[in-house]
Amino acid sequence: MVQLKSAREIEVMAEGGRILVATLEHATRAVEAGLSTWELDQIVESFIRAHHGAVPAFKGLYGFPGSACISVNHEIVHGIPSRQRILADGDIVTLDIGVKYRNYYTDSARTVPVGRIDAPSARLLEVTQASLEAGVAQCEPGKHLGDIGHAIQAVVEAAGFSVVRELVGHGVGSSLHEEPQVPNYGKPKRGLALVPGMTLAIEPMVNAGRAETKTLADKWTVVTADGSRSAHFEHTVAITEDGPRILTRAA
Ligand code: MG
Ligand code: MG
Repeated sequence: MVQLKSAREIEVMAEGGRILVATLEHATRAVEAGLSTWELDQIVESFIRAHHGAVPAFKGLYGFPGSACISVNHEIVHGIPSRQRILADGDIVTLDIGVKYRNYYTDSARTVPVGRIDAPSARLLEVTQASLEAGVAQCEPGKHLGDIGHAIQAVVEAAGFSVVRELVGHGVGSSLHEEPQVPNYGKPKRGLALVPGMTLAIEPMVNAGRAETKTLADKWTVVTADGSRSAHFEHTVAITEDGPRILTRAA
């Protein structure tokens, strides 16, 4: 069942979202060659916990060991922070972070460059971010889940990239993962109708090569089957009478 949020609940989520954005900005500034993904995770965790009432939502969730999912290059999502994984110049690194604040969750991700990246990687990041913006633009009453997925898919495929299908966006609020599922592909006017009070995590995962994925032996890290690079951008968005309200937008 889709849980609609009151205006008050959405304000609490917006407060948590501001902490999450600040965390992402802080972590992005820390990204550099030579840093381990474990160190990056420590930076994320201590920054979140410095805000009264905020905790890293991913830590311990379903048994995940880190505060952030940190996925490098051909890793799509759910990378486990590791002392052995050292960022190198030219890498792309996805920071996927959840904040639980006053019992409400927000969820946001971005892929950032490490030092200088090649042109195809830069384009992958640009297109994935643009696909997120296109999906978010559909988040208004009267539209459907299929409109969101279709808008994302159109931007991605026009650029010659692939949408990951096995992983989807989701409702978010009093749990990190709520109904409905929000696929990053679809047909216009299909699926659940959007109404005010819905809060959705919209999160295109885009592969430079083919769409297929596989999961590593650690049972967490999802990678591209063909080894191509992958990017991921995510916002938590409230559907309002006036259209989309992004709760995790940088100021
Ligand atoms: Mg996320
Ligand atoms: Mg999510």
